[in-house]
Amino acid sequence: MILSELDKFSENYAISMDRQDPLKIYRNQFSLTENSIYMDGNSLGLMPKKSETSIQRILNEWKTLGINGWLEGKIPWFFFAEEMGKKIAPIVGAKPSEVIMTGTTTVNIHTLVDTFYQPKGKRTKILADELNFPTDIYALMGQIRMHGLDPAEELILIPSENGLTLTEERIIERMQEDVALVFLPSVLYCSGQLLDIHHLTQAAHKDGICVGFDCAHSVGAIPHKLHEWDVDFAVWCGYKYLNGGPGAPGFLYVNEKHFHRTTNLLGWFGYVKEKQFDMALDYEKAYNAGGWQISSPGIIASGGVEGALEVTLDAGIAQIRQKSLNLTQYLIELTDHYLKNPPYNIRIGTPRESYRRGGHIALLRDDNAYQICKAMKKHGIIPDFRPPNIIRIAPIALYNSYDEIWQVVQNIKKIIDTEEFLEFSEERSLIS
Ligand SMILES: *Cc1c(COP(=O)(O)O)cnc(C)c1O
Repeated sequence: MILSELDKFSENYAISMDRQDPLKIYRNQFSLTENSIYMDGNSLGLMPKKSETSIQRILNEWKTLGINGWLEGKIPWFFFAEEMGKKIAPIVGAKPSEVIMTGTTTVNIHTLVDTFYQPKGKRTKILADELNFPTDIYALMGQIRMHGLDPAEELILIPSENGLTLTEERIIERMQEDVALVFLPSVLYCSGQLLDIHHLTQAAHKDGICVGFDCAHSVGAIPHKLHEWDVDFAVWCGYKYLNGGPGAPGFLYVNEKHFHRTTNLLGWFGYVKEKQFDMALDYEKAYNAGGWQISSPGIIASGGVEGALEVTLDAGIAQIRQKSLNLTQYLIELTDHYLKNPPYNIRIGTPRESYRRGGHIALLRDDNAYQICKAMKKHGIIPDFRPPNIIRIAPIALYNSYDEIWQVVQNIKKIIDTEEFLEFSEERSLIS
């Protein structure tokens, strides 16, 4: 049957979309959670089988090579971070020397804000937003304190008008002569709004301000052109859309025009590589993104990232984005069709325009959203919940299917039809 003849809201439509999906071969390359539909890949991506293979290889290198693995591993451990930087560069639109795998997101924010936040004269403030992931705000507060300044004075948080999204023009209006640094998320972790990184960067530069982005919710889901957009610096994690494993090493990007800048977080892994083992006591910072490394990389965990990057590169980030947009569009349409009206009362909290959407959809329900999440989990569907009323659904291009989205929507419908959610307490567990 051809697609146009099928009722768009029937399961058969989903099944035929899956049949024609050019990325369907990748589903098999992941270890899927048993008897469940996983819709939480924006918190922790599922395990690529290639990650398991890479980690096994590294364990074996450790077993057989001992310390010689630093230079004799298949990817010599000493250059692992640089190699992963080169591998990911095309995925984020950076030059190979501009990216390094190191640290984790919050640590990397500290490291780079230390370099890029230089309060001077009238320019003392950091411009951020009230919807960013709290750890980013904590890090900015800490950095302001390190200069002996008061975060209550120096941290400007652009408010959201609706608690879900930000208006770029309101951020830009506040880029005034008292601002020393702008730091923003690429995709908002609750609503899934994608900000216009290029436009915001141009606006900040016009006012002589450096700008950094936290791309934790966009790298691996969306193509970036960090260098072409002239972004000054960026950070992101390895365990969300990149599928590198729980607590995987993160990444940082520094535009090459800033390679000469200094950092106060000096450590031997940021030293010029060729001379690191001279063990000299004067400090010579590497003239690339590697200069912002601090200490020895965790090589075993790095294997998770290595295998995962191969899958993303093989599928291609443009194809991943296209399928991701198709999946989220489909979820929006099904939600409007099945769940909008009473008694369902579910609204879409994510911008509907594709260019303003990240990789997940925020479903809003004023009442019982947490209990509905709990009931979904009982039925083997794994979403996540963000207070006060957001059910996040992240269909991942590499391993989720259209049929799974159809199932999720039908499942929510049934939970509300039967009022089964009332069986669950409103008390939240430690991790939701
Ligand atoms: C996931 C995420 C983090 C996580 O920080 P870690 O330091 O890796 O624990 C930070 N910021 C944002 C915006 C995120 O989405």
